[in-house]
Amino acid sequence: MTYERCEHCGNETPPWDTIRSDSGDGSYELLCTLCFNARIAESNGFTDFENVRLDPIRIIDCHGESHQFHFQLRLLGDRIALDAFELRGEIPAGYRFQLIGEADDDVLVLLGRLVEKIRRALSVTHIDFRERRIIDCTVRGRIEWDESQAGHMPLVVVDGKDISWNDLGRMLMSMEGWQFRLDIADPSEEL
Ligand SMILES: [Zn+2]
Repeated sequence: MTYERCEHCGNETPPWDTIRSDSGDGSYELLCTLCFNARIAESNGFTDFENVRLDPIRIIDCHGESHQFHFQLRLLGDRIALDAFELRGEIPAGYRFQLIGEADDDVLVLLGRLVEKIRRALSVTHIDFRERRIIDCTVRGRIEWDESQAGHMPLVVVDGKDISWNDLGRMLMSMEGWQFRLDIADPSEEL
């Protein structure tokens, strides 16, 4: 996987830890997350903002499987977004979680809340992947795009695993005639 060079500090950075930033004159600069945050903090006068890089942590799911979560903390105006995600190679894949806070929030408190959120999510399984069926009557997951379908069809990520739209459809066929409700929520909401 190719690392990219931050145009401000010059550090070689994995792609998930870079942000394309509008430099104000119509062009874009590739910055590492720390340089991006420092720029936003300076232009908004947020001297209290804790611009930290958080170390990855491992969390065990309800089947005893270990998941390594990486973090990205972004200052977005007067709010901060804290993302936790797994990587496949250097590409975010699998479980993904987000928390939104205020610019002056204690980052370690937010991290604690995000880890609790991850633990709650990893304590539940929705799909039996061996029998390819929905375990109960609820499925929670994330909508992604399916590369193999040129992005025309969704790929859903449930229990941290990719499921094609077709496979999800097959699983639903064991419930033919039943009703369903489709709720969609933004990435920081808890389902
Ligand atoms: Zn940098």
